[in-house]
Amino acid sequence: MLTDIFTPADCAACKLCCNFHKSSAWETPALEKELIYLLQEEGVPLEKREDGSTSFYLHFCNNSENEVADCPMLNSEIGCTLPRELRPFECRIWPLRLMKQSSHLVIGLYKNCPALNDETLQRLVHYATTELLPTLKNYAEQHPLSVREMNSAYTIIWRG
Ligand code: SF4
Ligand code: SF4
Repeated sequence: MLTDIFTPADCAACKLCCNFHKSSAWETPALEKELIYLLQEEGVPLEKREDGSTSFYLHFCNNSENEVADCPMLNSEIGCTLPRELRPFECRIWPLRLMKQSSHLVIGLYKNCPALNDETLQRLVHYATTELLPTLKNYAEQHPLSVREMNSAYTIIWRG
């Protein structure tokens, strides 16, 4: 979805949004129903969360808070093994994130994405707040469990 702004090479060298500290496990994507069925058939480890959403099961080996676990769909050589069109919506819009603040829908931008520079930032914010905005609002309405509480790692670029 954002491939006009970020190149696959940007992400291949990074993969930051495909592995998770224990404390950031909440950031794993809430999976769409169709994708859950598909992944279950493939035997991909999933887990149901307290908020009712289903996401990838992260395999942590010990109790260290600093431990990092990869998304089960990540291949360390080639990146995400899901075809682009099958990736969870939340992955396709990253480093944007649907969020809420005082019951307002907001669009958050993950500030530490290394592919962001002055030029990509400007293009991304413009795209997210114009052409992409109806898709984001519609998805938020249809998938409320994908709208996360605002978090300090994100900057608000649009507020509903
Ligand atoms: S953090 Fe940014 S550069 Fe890194 S994989 Fe995610 S979108 Fe790509
Ligand atoms: S599904 Fe793919 S893009 Fe999304 S977190 Fe997992 S490896 Fe990354």
